[in-house]
Amino acid sequence: MRARAFNILAVSSVLLAVASAGLWAWTLFASARADYASHDARRGVFVGWVISSSAGEIFLARTSGTGTFPHDRAKWHRYTVPLDPEQPLRLRLGLRLPRFDYRDVPIHPPLLQTYWSLTVPYWLLVLIAVPLPAAWRVRRARVRRRLSSGQCLHCGYDLRATPERCPECGRGTMSGP
Ligand SMILES: [Zn+2]
Repeated sequence: MRARAFNILAVSSVLLAVASAGLWAWTLFASARADYASHDARRGVFVGWVISSSAGEIFLARTSGTGTFPHDRAKWHRYTVPLDPEQPLRLRLGLRLPRFDYRDVPIHPPLLQTYWSLTVPYWLLVLIAVPLPAAWRVRRARVRRRLSSGQCLHCGYDLRATPERCPECGRGTMSGP
């Protein structure tokens, strides 16, 4: 069961690493953004979301408050933003640290909007995602080595004399790690 959870995590990490690297590369050529806003006219409140991928970073922001959403859109709106050709490559790579921002923004007091945003550079996502698949490969290589050399999958004890059950850790030899 632990092995299966580990495998699911490792596969998710591979997907995260590939997706992050792909999006990271894509931000060198284009930036994309999607907005969502919903407005509850009866209660006079709104919630707006922004997610964007630009200049080597992914950005998520939420604004909520009383009044109307500045852009007044009631559904997802996606668009790509042309790159500034003058922007140097090193700025597009997003070699910055993750950032979090939280603010209460007085609009027309006492009306208040609450804003938070999270910016995560793709290099960090890749860095987080890579170690687990690497550990997975090491683990698989170890299992293969033990299988081919007649060792216990769990503890590595030599099973050539007792192929049914491991005398060291007591586990059956047919089950996986
Ligand atoms: Zn064993």
